[in-house]
Amino acid sequence: MELLQQQRKFFNTQQTKDLTFRKKALQRLEQEIEAREDAICDALYADFKKPIFESLALETQIVLAEIRLAIKKFGRWAKPKKVSASWVNFPSSEWIYKEPYGSILVIAPWNYPFQLALAPVIGAIAAGNTVFLKPSEMAPNTSAVLKEIIESVCLPEHVTVVEGGVEISQELLAQRWDYIFFTGSTQVGQIVYKSAAKHLTPVTLELGGKNPCIVDHSAKVKLAAKRIVWGKFINGGQTCIAPDYILVHKKVKGELIRALKKSITESYGSDIEGAAEDLARIINAKHYQRLKGLLIGEEILFGGTYNDSDNYLSPTLVNESALESKLMEDEIFGPILPIISYEDKADIEKYISRYGKPLAAYVFSKSKKFQDYITEAYSFGGGAINDTVVQFTNPRLPFGGVGSSGMGAYHGQHSFEVFSHHKSVVKRGNWIDPSLRYPPYNLPLKYIKMLKKFL
Ligand code: NAD
Repeated sequence: MELLQQQRKFFNTQQTKDLTFRKKALQRLEQEIEAREDAICDALYADFKKPIFESLALETQIVLAEIRLAIKKFGRWAKPKKVSASWVNFPSSEWIYKEPYGSILVIAPWNYPFQLALAPVIGAIAAGNTVFLKPSEMAPNTSAVLKEIIESVCLPEHVTVVEGGVEISQELLAQRWDYIFFTGSTQVGQIVYKSAAKHLTPVTLELGGKNPCIVDHSAKVKLAAKRIVWGKFINGGQTCIAPDYILVHKKVKGELIRALKKSITESYGSDIEGAAEDLARIINAKHYQRLKGLLIGEEILFGGTYNDSDNYLSPTLVNESALESKLMEDEIFGPILPIISYEDKADIEKYISRYGKPLAAYVFSKSKKFQDYITEAYSFGGGAINDTVVQFTNPRLPFGGVGSSGMGAYHGQHSFEVFSHHKSVVKRGNWIDPSLRYPPYNLPLKYIKMLKKFL
């Protein structure tokens, strides 16, 4: 890990702390991504036939928007922030300094292999850190493009890409970092957390979960179906915040199933496999076989067709999957949508409380009372009412999980804050020095008991 030592040296020479240095790096990154946007989309297509529309809308453009926002605002975010001074420190001014942590390790997943690798890197650069990025080995074409881009815009002592699989990841995790930002599965998140604990390294863990999507009897069913189909099947269902399963009120179940079928056909046509341009394939044979296995013994309402030669699995609706079924055991992470009916809040509770806190939750309902009930009764990373997935589009909203779906959140200014230590500094004046706090303690204790009013 000679390069890590070089990065530390580089950081300690103050280079990355310089705001102009950071800005130039971000500007070069922006230009390079713009120049290579087609190549990035080609790589994503080569990895799992990600539709070009989705590559632009959900990968490159999201990353470019993050960079632009950072370039425009990070100078302001980086400024020491003055807070109201405490009376007991009089005379003083009191500040929060944003200090870069130092050496950052970013480990990325394969499902949005470009966006989820670079979005944290942007925050880390803006905040003045050095970075090691380990992209996912499961999207090798995108990983190669990421390496080319970073190598052409950043010195290796500043940002470097290390390609490789689990072994490389473990080798990296064995080092001492100043911060680790991990996106991936809950199981690997636990491994990362354990490794970080050895050095007391702070972490952000962006993990997965089993995201419920509740459709109440008051919902606008056709519109709900359209928005659910979009959020579930973009990226071939391989989206961490996609609805995992539907809980639908039994009064509108039939109507919802009809609307979902219609929406799938309207989106992907009747020859879905032929619509290669609009539906991503499953990332690899292992995940494809896992997903096929989840359908064994299930009642398929729609879809369920596949093609082994292309890791193709059609958008699939499953009826009333049992709570104990394989499909309902874990996060599905593919184009399979179980539809389960409920009658009352107790039924909803039975499902949601069975799993750890999800990364996302969705409610389709016209009733504000019901919307508020779900939002307030359950803990989840983030979500939407009467839509799916859209919560990630606004950089002013922190993006992250809670409990088993992760810890910490990023995007926009939140990314800058994630990679900054908030250092509190009290600047005392010297022109007066009240003697009250110094021994011998002569002040009557009744006055000390009033201290809480002035702190
Ligand atoms: P993964 O956990 O298998 O892999 C993620 C990264 O960890 C990869 O770079 C991989 O090389 C590395 N890795 C894998 N096994 C490792 C090990 N034993 N030790 C050290 N490193 C290891 O996840 P994935 O399959 O790439 O992604 C899918 C999962 O990620 C899903 O659970 C999904 O919900 C989650 N995810 C979460 C978010 C989010 O923002 N919260 C975003 C995307 C994906």
